[in-house]
Amino acid sequence: MNPLRPLILAAAESPRMKRALTNIPVTADIVRRFVAGETRDDLIRVARTLLDSGRLVSVDFLGENTTDRSQADATVVEYLSLINELAALERPALPGIDAPPVEVSVKLSALGQALPGDGPAIATENLRILCTKAVQADVWVTVDAEDHTTTDATLATVHELREEFPWLGAVLQSYLRRTAADCRALSGPGSRIRLCKGAYREPHDVAFQRASEVTDSYLHCLEVLMRGDGYPMVASHDPAAIAAAERLVAETGRGPNCFEHQLLYGIRDGEQRRLAAAGNAVRVYVPYGSQWYGYLTRRLAERPANLAFFLRALVGD
Ligand code: FAD
Repeated sequence: MNPLRPLILAAAESPRMKRALTNIPVTADIVRRFVAGETRDDLIRVARTLLDSGRLVSVDFLGENTTDRSQADATVVEYLSLINELAALERPALPGIDAPPVEVSVKLSALGQALPGDGPAIATENLRILCTKAVQADVWVTVDAEDHTTTDATLATVHELREEFPWLGAVLQSYLRRTAADCRALSGPGSRIRLCKGAYREPHDVAFQRASEVTDSYLHCLEVLMRGDGYPMVASHDPAAIAAAERLVAETGRGPNCFEHQLLYGIRDGEQRRLAAAGNAVRVYVPYGSQWYGYLTRRLAERPANLAFFLRALVGD
């Protein structure tokens, strides 16, 4: 893991840093690399281009850690409009791929999970509203993974709603020490698990800290999911993870209807196209909205080169 990552993530939590970063004009250039734009129109333009290129999309309306009920409700309203507009997009046929081309990704903390008192129940009900709409629109929903303090509540919500919406997906993070066990528990028939490495600042007792340990855990968890009976979503740009997925697909005889690759908008576009051209289902995670600060700082922290690019732009070099 990038050694500067914990420092960057810690600095990013400071309100002064947030004010400074969001108020300088060059921020817009780097935001644009990772975020479709601030409006739904921006998002729809990007989603259309990706679908036309033979890729699938997963759309995230940016926002997290809502502490205000009205904001959680507004997020639900935005997702409902988003699902409507995504459902109306033309969906080019992809030979051998039956997965819905459109998915939405949702953070439960944006739906009210962090509200005092019955936050988890409010988020569960809000997610139920989104899933009900998504079924009608043939759109999938996957629940993002946030910091480890939310993992139990998030998996409990997914478990509850999968009774009604068995296709509802969840994300597991290989940096968490618990995740191998979660993968074993969630690799059964119908289970849709997106496996990523994890993007938050986590303490040593719950999360592996060294990059090699996180990758080893990823490869182990991937093997559990690929040899299981569910639908793994391989969410990594790491060549080692992608190669392992390709090897496991060959060994297990999974076709393009039995797993998918997932990558982030703006990262390894050439690799996204290569995987899609090879006949794989490749889904691109595309965020949009004005609340991009948390998402952007996680992308900067992952990769010192991104930070260097940003700092060079700042000093006008
Ligand atoms: P790394 O070892 O970090 O990167 C491998 C290579 O990918 C790098 O060498 C570089 O070439 C490229 N790369 C990776 N990151 C960047 C970057 N920021 N900028 C430029 N190049 C980069 N995390 C969560 O905690 N919760 C989630 O719900 C979640 N959802 C995700 C959904 C998807 C579809 C994806 C792809 C990731 C998601 N993540 C999530 C983020 C994930 O946890 C990692 O932080 C991120 O994907 C980087 O890990 P990596 O597996 O790509 O491997």
